[in-house]
Amino acid sequence: MTKIGFIGLGIMGRPMAHHLQNGGHEVTGYDLVEESLVELEKAGGKRADSSRSVAETTDTIIVMVPDTPDVDAVLFGPQGVAEGLSAGKTVVDMSSISPIATKDFAARINALGCDYLDGPVSGGEVGAKAASLTIMVGGPEAAFERTLPLFEMMGKNITLVGGNGDGQTCKVANQIVVALTIEAVGEALLFSSKAGADPARVREALMGGFAASRILEVHGERMIKRTFDPGFRIALHQKDLNLALSGARALGLSLPNTAMAQELFNACAARGGSDWDHSAMVRALEALADHEVA
Ligand code: NAD
Repeated sequence: MTKIGFIGLGIMGRPMAHHLQNGGHEVTGYDLVEESLVELEKAGGKRADSSRSVAETTDTIIVMVPDTPDVDAVLFGPQGVAEGLSAGKTVVDMSSISPIATKDFAARINALGCDYLDGPVSGGEVGAKAASLTIMVGGPEAAFERTLPLFEMMGKNITLVGGNGDGQTCKVANQIVVALTIEAVGEALLFSSKAGADPARVREALMGGFAASRILEVHGERMIKRTFDPGFRIALHQKDLNLALSGARALGLSLPNTAMAQELFNACAARGGSDWDHSAMVRALEALADHEVA
């Protein structure tokens, strides 16, 4: 049994922590939201009163919070993880955050004699609940091997991509593909609908051919059935594309279609859609066409 710390018990963190408990590990958790801590206790876990206290009492500390500044606060803020660490522990950040900031966070944790892994995930709430997440890891191989049994309790497709930051880079790449595919599916269904074909039948036909994808299957259906409850919120995808675009700028490269996809998310947000599922990007295309997929 390993003593595991879990900081950030939201949509994703809560089911992930439960899988570790079900696997026989003692989980000590911390979150800003009281309700999450009550739930953890009910499930047999221990609650801590700060990230520092989690780091003091556990060996592997997993972080699953929304954005780069949140991870910064959890690790290095007052009452943060860094204040509670002692040499030999491992910090695993499974949030989706900046690859560049991740390299800095890893170096500062390493300076305390501890290992750092970035291990963002793909698969959403469904994957978190089913313990079938894809986990993209960056960090030293020995720390990866040591942590692999824990990853295997939360996910299925687990890859050591490279050094620190490479897991986050891989996740940004994932989010580029997802956003651009949502846009392509949206355009295709909008075109079909405007041309007078039934978009549901078009989707069905395309699912058997070269254009088939999980996005066409799942999000294509959402666009047709108009089910835009999240899922994955547009606000979180804007955050991820922002990482792609600011990274591209720092690297001196152009990602024109990623920029365009971000503009379409921005247009949704301007219409009150920050909390819509990201498949609702089609609504921005529909506004341009003055036509709804139907
Ligand atoms: P969420 O908002 O549901 O949960 C985040 C939790 O972190 C909240 O409970 C919040 O109270 C807690 N938190 C924030 N700051 C904190 C702090 N300083 N100390 C302690 N707790 C703090 O978010 P989520 O959907 O679980 O997403 C978490 C991460 O996973 C994000 O980076 C997101 O991009 C990524 N992700 C989400 C999905 C998805 O479908 N929801 C899929 C893949 C990846």
